[in-house]
Amino acid sequence: MTDGPSRDMAGGLLSIDMTALAANYLDLARRAWPSRTAAVVKADAYGLGARQVAPVLERAGCEDFFVAHLEEALALKPALSPGAKLYVLNGLQPGAEAACAAGGVIPVLNGLEQARRWRDLAVSWGAALPAVIQIDSGMARLGLSEADLDELLADTTFFDEVSLAVVMSHLACSDEPGAASNAGQRARFTALADRLPAAPRSLANSGGIFLDPSHHGDLVRPGVSLYGVSPHDGPNAMRAVAALDAKVIQTRDVAAGERVGYGLTYARDTPGRIAIIAVGYADGWPRHLSNRGAAYYQGVRLPIAGRVSMDSITLDVSALAERGLTLALGDTVELLGPHQTLEDVARDAGTIPYEILTNLGRRYHRTYVEDPTMQQLPVSPRQADARS
Ligand SMILES: *Cc1c(COP(=O)(O)O)cnc(C)c1O
Repeated sequence: MTDGPSRDMAGGLLSIDMTALAANYLDLARRAWPSRTAAVVKADAYGLGARQVAPVLERAGCEDFFVAHLEEALALKPALSPGAKLYVLNGLQPGAEAACAAGGVIPVLNGLEQARRWRDLAVSWGAALPAVIQIDSGMARLGLSEADLDELLADTTFFDEVSLAVVMSHLACSDEPGAASNAGQRARFTALADRLPAAPRSLANSGGIFLDPSHHGDLVRPGVSLYGVSPHDGPNAMRAVAALDAKVIQTRDVAAGERVGYGLTYARDTPGRIAIIAVGYADGWPRHLSNRGAAYYQGVRLPIAGRVSMDSITLDVSALAERGLTLALGDTVELLGPHQTLEDVARDAGTIPYEILTNLGRRYHRTYVEDPTMQQLPVSPRQADARS
């Protein structure tokens, strides 16, 4: 399966390992068991392609998919089986209620006004509509406050019209296992959720799965770890999913002192060689990597020389000569792969792996690599349980 421009025309080659993706889902599902494991596939599955990624996760046992926007849910729906549940994290936008209900999409109700609009639609349709209610347990982002909850519960018929599919909250510091706020948010979430009708509870994102199981609730919502990123420092238990190679579009000799790129910010003390690759900041390779990051060729580090341009990057490839290696037009260098992880790139760019991943550009030739044996992958604990 491929997507984007052809291999010959593209400047970068993005390879997405579906076997690693499914293995990561199963790994997370085992850690979270007996909680159910959803998948967060917002922002086009963190840039990797929701239409390709979500069906693989469904085959691995996933039944619940979270996106950020209604449009993302409606676009993804045809790629999934009719029973798959799609939830919209950013909530119910005014005017979008009927499209949401007609699409069979479950909104996350983040405030009173959204809750009331959803209830009103249910009344006018004469049928109860499912919803997730999000409670703000201490992040001051999305969700009902305690006062909102009081007001919602004062309306004693609300849950006749709206069936509570899930009650959820979100952790502010799940990437910091030592943060006291995690236990505080968990306690506050439990206390507030206890006031609602019984429904599955959902608190943990990727980081939350790696906290102690008291943070798991009934439904966990990993995103980034599905795509190979460890939520915590230390050894990464996840398998890398994305690999990126960039094409060399020119090479040239540079003299000692000859300046390279916009702003003329790079020069060598000795003569050397430069290679230009066909990936730039328009492809999501951050301009903050100017004179900081690197690419790799057969394991040799090739530092970024000068500023990252919109469509190209200059690399100092002088180190190759002493190893008897050369680069030529059409060769590729590694940007993400065995020598450079998303975490490495994020660190060099002063950001987080999420941002590198979700910015991966639309100009790459994309190959979705499926192991032919993948159909026989061990089933998730939930599937195993359902069959026994
Ligand atoms: C994005 C998001 C997630 C997934 O978070 P990861 O850290 O990528 O696992 C889960 N829940 C909510 C509410 C989110 O916004």
